[in-house]
Amino acid sequence: MGNLMEPSSASVYDGNLASDRVVIHVTSHQRIDQQILVKWRTKTFIARIVEDQEEWIPQFLTQAANFCGENVSRGSPKGSLGSGTTLRFWIDTWLEDKPFYLLFPDLFKLESYKGCLVKDRCTGGGEFSQWEWSWIRPPSTPMEIQQLLTMLTKIQNVTLSNQDDSWRWNADSSSCFTVKSMRIRLQNASYGPTHWVFPWNKFAPHKVNVLGWRIKMNRIATADQLAKRNISTTLSLCPICKAQNETAEHLFLLCPFVDYLWSFILSWCRVSTQKPCNLKDLMEVHQKANLNHWTQKLFQHVILSYIWVIWKTRNDSIFLTKNPSLRRAIKDLKGTSFFWLATRSNIPDLNWEKWRTFSF
Ligand SMILES: [Zn+2]
Repeated sequence: MGNLMEPSSASVYDGNLASDRVVIHVTSHQRIDQQILVKWRTKTFIARIVEDQEEWIPQFLTQAANFCGENVSRGSPKGSLGSGTTLRFWIDTWLEDKPFYLLFPDLFKLESYKGCLVKDRCTGGGEFSQWEWSWIRPPSTPMEIQQLLTMLTKIQNVTLSNQDDSWRWNADSSSCFTVKSMRIRLQNASYGPTHWVFPWNKFAPHKVNVLGWRIKMNRIATADQLAKRNISTTLSLCPICKAQNETAEHLFLLCPFVDYLWSFILSWCRVSTQKPCNLKDLMEVHQKANLNHWTQKLFQHVILSYIWVIWKTRNDSIFLTKNPSLRRAIKDLKGTSFFWLATRSNIPDLNWEKWRTFSF
């Protein structure tokens, strides 16, 4: 691991792909493992192609791609064609986003020298595009002919130059390998580029944000979720209204008790917005209310305090046999949210009167 943290020795040979910016962002153990592996593989990849071109095998990147998920590392290091004296025609990725041996597998089987360079096949030099093949037998099946025609279309405008071949890291706009670009790739591969991100609020304590995040994912210990996991409970009804089955949606959105609490919040914060129709909407309702950035954050803080108070009311009802009281819930909501705000923010002139009347 110590060696991995040092600048790549390949930077001596190829500053294009090597990077001295070796910073691992700590996100999860699994991701760290992936990042270290990919970095190690990329460094080894650079070192091997620079130091001993005959040594390098195509399976190398395929292994990295398989380990980290398809499309994570494959296609990222891409060759830029110059003289064609170091890039391998079939094995390296240089024209398309995949190497030719994957794009045209039937033709690759017919190639007599599978590790041939681009220059071995493109014999026209820089003057014109001319191709010379070395088949075990000429392509003859319909699939082979079709692949040959497609490949010829792709390479028809390729010519060589006097410049050296080089490598680019396509996942970063700088063309250099960076851990950040790799991390983004891994994140996208793990969750997809459009996965939902919980809108964290720094005014509310971490535990409250986590509760909100778990509620959105329906991962809190409501009666229906406990039953799903075969955990027997004596109560299946909502402990607040005792009229409906307890689900996260009922508890935070549909229960008559929270209906009153919700109406109170809207009038207290002087916000006019539709009542959220699901748990995701509840976590994003502050974004949809027509508020400026600052008031939006404060309103979100109120919403997080609201879910905290509901959860507390529900737990007090079950474990302390306290009867739910709307009056107490409202008092809790205002007091707790003010306490958190006063201790976790540096809002100028913040005082109880200002918060009580939500005058921002
Ligand atoms: Zn209820």
